[in-house]
Amino acid sequence: MHQKLPEKIHPLRHAQDGVKLVGNLQTHHMLRLGDALHNMKGSTASVDMIFDVDKDNIPYLQGKFTSLLTFICERCMHVMSLTITAECLLALIQNEHKIKALSEQYEPWLINSNEPIQLNSIVEDELILALPSVPKHDFNCLSMDAWHSEAGETKRTMNVTSPFAVLSALKLKD
Ligand SMILES: [Zn+2]
Repeated sequence: MHQKLPEKIHPLRHAQDGVKLVGNLQTHHMLRLGDALHNMKGSTASVDMIFDVDKDNIPYLQGKFTSLLTFICERCMHVMSLTITAECLLALIQNEHKIKALSEQYEPWLINSNEPIQLNSIVEDELILALPSVPKHDFNCLSMDAWHSEAGETKRTMNVTSPFAVLSALKLKD
């Protein structure tokens, strides 16, 4: 079922032809996506795209993109992995005036030219839209963190001896 995905796609032509694209993409070169993540090493996205034309003669793309991505939890600041799934149903629109007439299930995708489009950039856009605004563990990670780092906590306190504390220690010696 998996195939080698094309680098570039022709959405309108694919819709007329009823093209299905299923496969995996490397995501490490998706720099805009990478900005939101801890790292992108070795990560891939699974791609599942169906291009078709509906009964009202609207060309559309139904897409599902899934990727296991690495974030920093904003609560405990530890690294965590999350599976991000982006699903979209886009009507391929060539004329802005047609957007208003679209049925509600669609999001408009305005296509201005017949130039092929980078598959990467669509997958990247959809994954970015699906990212959590505040990535964090789905359990109370802070209380676990306190357990694990108790020893570290003590060390840190000892290191931040203030100059005043040193002074008073000297005074005590006198
Ligand atoms: Zn956490």
